[in-house]
Order: sequence, then structure tokens, then C-alpha cells
Amino acid sequence: MPDLKVYGAPWCPDCKRSKKFLAEHRIPMEWIDIDQDHDGLRVVEKLQAGGRSIPTIVFPDGSHLIEPSDDELARKLGLTLEASRQFYELVIVGGGPAGLAAALYAAREGISVVIVEKSALGGQAGATKRIENYPGFPEGIDGADLAERFIAQAKRYQVELVSAVEVTSIEPEMGNVVVKLGNGQELCAHAALIATGSRYRQLGVPGESSLTGAGVHYCATCDGPFYRGAEEILVIGGGNSALEEALFLTQFAKKIRIVSHGSELRASGLVQADVRRHPQIEIMLDTEIVAFSGTKKLEEVVARQRVTGEEQRWHPAAAFVFVGLDPNTAFLREGVHLDQRGFVTTDASFRTSLPGVFAAGDVRAGATKQLGAAVGEGIAALLQIRAQLQQQRLTVSLDEGGAPDVTPVTSATANLSSSTGPPTRPDPPGRVARLAVRGWIALAAAWAAAAVALAASAALGIATGLVFHLHPVAIAIGSAWLYRRLEEARPCPTRSVAFLVGLGALLSASDEALRPRGLADAPWLAAAIGLAGLAGASWVLLRADPRSLLQPRAR
Ligand SMILES: Cc1cc2nc3c(=O)[nH]c(=O)nc-3n(C[C@H](O)[C@H](O)[C@H](O)COP(=O)(O)OP(=O)(O)OC[C@H]3O[C@@H](n4cnc5c(N)ncnc54)[C@H](O)[C@@H]3O)c2cc1C
Repeated sequence: MPDLKVYGAPWCPDCKRSKKFLAEHRIPMEWIDIDQDHDGLRVVEKLQAGGRSIPTIVFPDGSHLIEPSDDELARKLGLTLEASRQFYELVIVGGGPAGLAAALYAAREGISVVIVEKSALGGQAGATKRIENYPGFPEGIDGADLAERFIAQAKRYQVELVSAVEVTSIEPEMGNVVVKLGNGQELCAHAALIATGSRYRQLGVPGESSLTGAGVHYCATCDGPFYRGAEEILVIGGGNSALEEALFLTQFAKKIRIVSHGSELRASGLVQADVRRHPQIEIMLDTEIVAFSGTKKLEEVVARQRVTGEEQRWHPAAAFVFVGLDPNTAFLREGVHLDQRGFVTTDASFRTSLPGVFAAGDVRAGATKQLGAAVGEGIAALLQIRAQLQQQRLTVSLDEGGAPDVTPVTSATANLSSSTGPPTRPDPPGRVARLAVRGWIALAAAWAAAAVALAASAALGIATGLVFHLHPVAIAIGSAWLYRRLEEARPCPTRSVAFLVGLGALLSASDEALRPRGLADAPWLAAAIGLAGLAGASWVLLRADPRSLLQPRAR
């Protein structure tokens, strides 16, 4: 199949945005610079009846989009941009290795789960050229291939995957968590897993992005072995990780040149001492990198001495940049405790400071920033989440006076060890659903009591006016309407139930307060109105089966 074609120009910011979006989603494309390629320009003009708007993107089926937003592009590429439901047992934020591994285990456990990924599924692994140290691939594996394998396995277990949608906040709400998405959706869940990773801080100099993975690297453990036998490797940075990685790289290259823009190194004294006495390492302070250049791989590094302004040109086999890591935690405004560098702190069970919220992978304070470790953390965190969900189910069973229902524990354990095919997803009898059932029972009881009181008052001949008798009916219909509105606007059924139960209580109180005493009334009218009220309440109850909240919504 021919690749998708992007017609644009290097000066066009929207072209860069679209190219970045497609590259992130690993969509093969052909770039046609219409400033250089006259045939390309003619194609654009023909498609736009003489117009020259760019980017113009032509898809393999012949259709095209002109100046599309990322959202339009995503829709055209068939990405899922919305969660199908409002309630899940678990929402996973971030579709990198940690998130995908956790989701796979969750799906196999029968836990209702969705992954929300702000960019492309696969995370940093998907953007890595070659991974040599992930167990099970003795020849190494292309990062994109590995990411596709993670995704395919998650799909096989019917994990719901939402991509190109950012999570903007996670907030606690009546024992649940509400996860807000950039598309306006609010997802309610028993638990959330933060697996948003981190990104290596870049220098931001020309040539850096285009040569990343082709001579410019950010992980010595991952990419150092590619340069075994090299004459020289450059290490940029003056902190602990830069110096430790420099020591590690001495096994591959004859010379390691450490370049730091500060006038002294920031690493601990011990590491500095090791580096200073190492015969293969040279240190250059007060030196900043100005540019990387090369066509297919790194060929030259331009640096400037900050004191003298003198420019130098080096030709190392590779440059490793260690100027820090930035965690993807900007969306966690409050509630979740972060360390000084912004990484999420957890206890040994991967729990954060916010109840029901866990964290795993590179985003976690103390994580090792390795792929295998991220996968392991995702799985370990999921097992802790499973324990919490089971605990909640168990608590509700006991609350209800029944025998503890341990079936899910057993089946979950069996699932872990033996199931091989995609599970048929059970309807998860979650805690919220049970609370909802209780709420409905309480409401029904309130209505029944109101109807009995009305019937009794009719039988006794204690009259009330027509308006008084009609008000329960009005409230029944109003409750139904309000319930539907609440359910649409706010996904947490607990809130709706709490509201309706409150309304029921209000009705009982108003019934007493409004009751005009001593007036004669026709008993048959009171009885008829009481029955109508009961029918209205039944209608509310039948229409709003709480389990429907746990089923996918038709769109
Ligand atoms: C160039 C490079 C090469 C590497 N090579 C190796 C290697 O050879 N071997 C190795 O072991 N490790 C390697 N690593 C490290 C490895 O890729 C990471 O340790 C691993 O990917 C971490 O997984 P993660 O799921 O924790 O985070 P990530 O992979 O970072 O995934 C996090 C995901 O969360 C998403 N996200 C962030 N914020 C939000 C939000 N608000 N809403 C929704 N989604 C969000 C991100 O878009 C991302 O997709 C390399 C890393 C890089 C950058």
C-alpha cells in the first residue's frame, strides 16, 4: 500500500505539527516539500482548485485533508478518541509499557479497564530505535515493533484503548476517583494508575531532535553497547547520572569527553573522584553545546567555551545527553504527593498519597527508568489494585450481611495462571452498583411509605387539597428527569443515588409540613393519586437500573 503523502513546506508550523503527530503514531509517510517539488505543488493546486493551503495530506485511499487539526487527523486514522463508558473499575493514565502491561493483567482478571494515552500508545519504547536489553529478544528488537506487540496483546484481551487524548486531572470523589480528559469526558473509577512516564530533558539545540537515536542518545545502558570499539564518545552533563554513565561508557570507547556548561561538576564527591582519576575520561567545564549535525547519523558536534567564546568542532561516534529527566506529572495539581523533582512518591504497594490512586513505571520516584522495570512495576501495581478491588467487593458483601463472596479472588488467581484466550468480560458487580441498588431500595421504601400514608389518610377521611396530593407525583417525575440529567452530566452513580435519597427524605418532610389538616376530601381521589405516585416511583426505578451504568453506552 502506498504511504500517506504530506505536502508542505519547512517554514509551515502546521506542517511540522502534522508530521510530528504522524511520526508519533508511527504512520509511514512521504514528505513532499512543495517549495522544491513543482509536481507536488501542482497536486496541491489541483486538489484545491488553485489553492495552496498546507499541509495537504493525501491518504492511501485517495482522500485528502487540508490543514487538518490533530483531532481531525486522529479521526481520519481511526483512532479511538473517546471512552465508551463513564464508569470503570480502573482507569490507566498513560499507554507506555507500564500502562499496557497493567492493562493486560487487568483485562485478564476481568477488571473493567481503559487506558487513556495523550499521544501514541507504546510510550518511550515506541519511540526507541533499538532495544537490546529487553529479555526474550536475543537479537534485540525495534522499539516500535515491541510497542506494537504490547498493543496487540492488550487488544487481544479487549482492553479499551483511547489515544491522542490527554488526562487533565485526577480527583477523589466519594470513595472513587474522577479522571478528567482533555476531550471533556469525566471517567469515574474505583482506582486509577498513573503510568505517565517521564521524558529526557533535551538541550534544545539544532540537529538534536532529528539525530535522536542516530548518534544522539539519552540512555547509556540502552544504547552504549552500539558504540563498542569507538574512538570517542561525548557525555553532556555534570550531575551524578552524567558521570556515572560516563564511567559505564568507558568499556565501549577509548575516550569519553564529559562536557558541562557549569564551572564545576555537580555530582557527588565520590563519583567525581572516580571520574577524575579515570585515564580514559577528559572533563571540559564552562562549555556548552551549540549544535549537532549529520545527514543520516551524527557527524559533528559544535561547542562553545563560555568564558572565551571560542568555538570547537568534535567528531565523536555518539553524544549522550544527561541533563535531567522531567516527569509527566503537570496534570497532578493537588492531592498526589510529588518529590522535589516532580516524580510521584508511592509506598511499597505503589499507592500514592491519594486513596485509590497508584503509580508505576518511569513516573514513580525511585524508578530505574528501564523498560523491563516499567513493565514489572505495571504488573506489580495491578496486583495491588486487584487486591484493593477485591477488598472493596468483599467489604460490600459483608456489609450486606451475606457470606463473604470469595469467588472473584479464586477466579482471578486461576485467570493469572491458566487462562490463555481472551476472557468473556463478566458484568462486574462493583461497589458503586451495590450502593446504587441500596439507594434505589431506600428510595422505593420512601415512596411506598408515602403511598401507604396517602392511602391511610384517604381511608380515614382526612382530607387534603388536590395540590397536596399531586406533589408526590410531580416529585416522582422530577426525580426521574433529574436522575437522567445527573447521570449524563456526572458519571458517578453514588452522587446520583445520594441526591435521590436526599430528595426522598425531603419529600417525606414536605409531606408532613404541607399536610393541611382537618379538611374533608374524597378517599378515592387520594388513593388514586397515591397509586399514581407509586407508579411514578416505579417508573424511575425500572428506567434507571444501576447495572446499566456499568454497560457500554450505545453511541
Ligand atoms: C531514546 C530512548 C531509548 C531507550 N532505550 C531503552 C532500552 O534500550 N532499554 C530499556 O530498558 N529502556 C530504554 N529506555 C527507557 C524505557 O523506554 C522507559 O523506561 C519505559 O518506556 C518507561 O515506561 P513507562 O510506561 O513508565 O513510561 P513511558 O514509556 O514514558 O510512557 C508513558 C506514556 O504516558 C503518556 N502520558 C504522559 N502524560 C499523559 C497524560 N497527562 N495523559 C495521558 N497520557 C500521558 C505519554 O505520552 C507516554 O506514552 C529508553 C528511553 C528512551 C527515551
